[in-house]
Amino acid sequence: MNLDNCPRCGKLFAKNFRDVCPACMREIDKEYELCANYLREFRGSIITEVSDATGVSIKQITKFIREGRISIMNAPNMSYPCESCGTLIRDNQLCDNCRNRIEKDKKQMFQDISRKEDLKSAYKQTGVYKGLERYNDK
Ligand SMILES: [Zn+2]
Ligand SMILES: [Zn+2]
Repeated sequence: MNLDNCPRCGKLFAKNFRDVCPACMREIDKEYELCANYLREFRGSIITEVSDATGVSIKQITKFIREGRISIMNAPNMSYPCESCGTLIRDNQLCDNCRNRIEKDKKQMFQDISRKEDLKSAYKQTGVYKGLERYNDK
């Protein structure tokens, strides 16, 4: 048996197929029911409304959406926060801005590396050139 602390309540539990203890599992199921029922009734609600009305944290609702337990296909105003900046999004883990920024950062990093390589080889070349100049002077 694989014993572990429940990440939600901290109690020791037998970790089989689930990440949280049975008590928390039931709690989460209840929270899911609350959110799903609320959304069924108020399709146009936004995530903060659902959280306020049900008492379920935005983090947990976000998890439901990411896990696909709550579908936002039929809830046109539902969205969840971007993992990096908290902007509300409906797709992926990150908003477009953060995705672009990360792409740019990656490119920038590669550019920096190749620039450093360029500098190194340029330095070597001028070193050789200077050496030749000195040679010519003599
Ligand atoms: Zn627990
Ligand atoms: Zn973002």
